[in-house]
Order: sequence, then structure tokens, then C-alpha cells
Amino acid sequence: MESVRVALAERSYDIVIGESLLSRGSLLAKNMTGDRAVLITNDTVAQWYAQPVQTALETQGIAVDLVVLPDGEAHKTLDTVSGIWDALLQKQYGRDVTLIALGGGVVGDMVGLAAALYQRGVKFIQIPTTLLAQVDSSVGGKTGVNHPLGKNMIGAFYQPQGVIIDTAVLQTLPQREISAGLAEVVKYGLIWDAAFFSELETRLTRVDALEPELVAWMIRRACEIKAEVEEMQAKYGKVPGLAAVLVGARKDSQTYVRMKKKACRRLIERLQLPTRYPCSVTPDKLFAAMRLDKKVLRGQLRFILLKAIGKAVISTQASDEHVLSVLSQFKSEQ
Ligand code: NAD
Repeated sequence: MESVRVALAERSYDIVIGESLLSRGSLLAKNMTGDRAVLITNDTVAQWYAQPVQTALETQGIAVDLVVLPDGEAHKTLDTVSGIWDALLQKQYGRDVTLIALGGGVVGDMVGLAAALYQRGVKFIQIPTTLLAQVDSSVGGKTGVNHPLGKNMIGAFYQPQGVIIDTAVLQTLPQREISAGLAEVVKYGLIWDAAFFSELETRLTRVDALEPELVAWMIRRACEIKAEVEEMQAKYGKVPGLAAVLVGARKDSQTYVRMKKKACRRLIERLQLPTRYPCSVTPDKLFAAMRLDKKVLRGQLRFILLKAIGKAVISTQASDEHVLSVLSQFKSEQ
């Protein structure tokens, strides 16, 4: 088992990474103060992992209620979060309850928001079950839901008590979700750490046969980088953010990537990540969607661009015409 400390003064917490941690009741209990927890997951993840977590907590003398949400980004709404609050109020939970988010980024973001606002804030633990959630969304304290007019437009910053990453859960994760997570991992190397990128190039040879040791190493380094960014942001304000779009954009479960450097292209192709976006999306539509993104500041689009591998800068210099012309080059022909 490995751990990464996110040092944010009184909001500091640990991320622990290892195999089969889900059923370690003592690890879960360590992040709680009271003896009542509500485990919140979705109907896909519940079938494999709700019972082991529930049993592990109960063996520690913790009473657990289960709330199962519908699966999917379409349900990442204030209505669904309101359903969590209904369940908490109906059972008369007080401020001593701990919410446990068991699932991908969608569940994690919603449970974080539910915890941030329930009775002005209760504790919560993240147990991320997708690679993307393990390397990105469960770390950093961003919580939120979608609004009909924009993705993740309603939310709050709220840190968990702890993050428990069980690498064994990736065995049931569909390949496209693994790819989405790997794209994030590669992005960390590109934006932040050239040595990590080159080690990924050497070690990530086959996307369909990821060794547990390799996965744990990748997740640990990604979490360390995200923690470093969080700590720097807390101390110094803005740094080239990892949540920002690099030279591509993740939309639903697809990743569109544009790479000039041969090395990047090689790794990205080896990981079977798409390098073009579907022809059903027009550059205009993509551009309009980018304009609604939270990366827009005072009406200006901000891009994270690479000076070199491992060195990123924030730029607002690109003209609309230039962005549209770049976007049109990466449209798939069929
Ligand atoms: P997701 O939560 O929708 O999970 C993808 C799919 O995998 C779902 O169908 C889910 O039920 C299923 N699943 C999850 N774990 C599984 C497992 N172990 N085995 C089998 N199936 C499993 O998607 P995601 O990619 O994890 O997260 C995307 C969301 O995260 C978006 O809403 C995005 O806005 C958010 N996000 C948040 C942050 C942040 O900093 N808070 C960062 C990046 C993304």
C-alpha cells in the first residue's frame, strides 16, 4: 500500500493506493469520526462493490445505509443530489454522518457536493472506481453537477477526509474507460513532468495488459502531481491547471488529441486514443462548446499549450479564426 499526502493545512488528507483496499474496514474507519456512514454509488458499480464496502464498515461497528443512484452523466444534476439530501433527511442524519462516494467521477462529484452543502458540510470519503477518477476527479476537491446550459457549472470546492484507491476495481472497468484515464495520465506527463512522460513511453507498451504494479505506480505519480498542483494553487494562486484542456478536449468518453511531437503521437496511438473527432461534430459546434467551458475567463478562451514536454503555459492569444482552423484539421473524414 502506498500513500500520497495532500498538504492543505487543516484540510490536508491522505490518498492511499493499493490492491483490494475496498474491504479494509479499518482503513475506511480511520477517515471517519462518528459511527454512521451513508455509502453512495450507482447501479452499475453497486453490483460488484457496494456489498464488500458495506460489510467492511459493519465489521468496524459502523452502521451503513446504501443509496444507489442511476448511472450516467445525464443524471449528474442538482435533482439527483437533492435525492441524496432527501435520503439523509428522511433518516434524520446529523452532522456526524460521513458520506462515502463509491464510483467514477460522476458519483464522486455529486457526493462531494451533497457533503459540502448538507447541514453546511459533513465529512466525505472518496473511493474512486474508474482510472479517470483515481488519477484526477477524486483528488483536488472540485465537486459539482451539470446545468442544462453547461457542464459542471454548479459546484463547490470541498475536500474529502481521505481518498482510497483500490486498483483491483479496474478489472471490471470497460476498455474505453481505461483509455480515458490513460489519456489523463499522459497529460500529466506532458504538462508537468517530462521524466514521467518518458517513463510512461518506456513502460506503457500494451494498453490491454496493464500490470498491477505499473498501474499503482502510474496512479501514485499522477496523484502526486495533482497534489503538487493543488498545494501550489493554494499557496500561489493560478498555475497551468491540470484540469485544463491541453491540445485536445475530452467530450463524453472520447478523447480528441492533437499532437505535433512524434513522441506524443507514438504514445497516444499505442494507447489507442483517438486523434481525430467524429465528422458528426462540426468545428463550429466544438468551438461553441469550448466557449461554455469553465476555462473561459472574462469572455476569453484560455489554452494550455506546451513549450516542451513537461512545460506548459497558459495562453489567451489564439484568435477565433486560428482556433477554428486548427479544429477543422482534426475532424475525422468519415
Ligand atoms: P463515470 O463516473 O460516468 O464512469 C464511467 C462509467 O464506468 C460509468 O458507467 C460507471 O458506472 C462505470 N464504472 C465506474 N467504475 C467501474 C468499475 N470499477 N467497473 C465497471 N464499471 C465502472 O465517468 P468518469 O470518467 O469516472 O468521470 C467523468 C466525470 O468526472 C465527469 O462528470 C467529469 O465532469 C468529472 N470530472 C471531475 C473532475 C474533478 O476535478 N472533480 C475532474 C475530471 C472529471
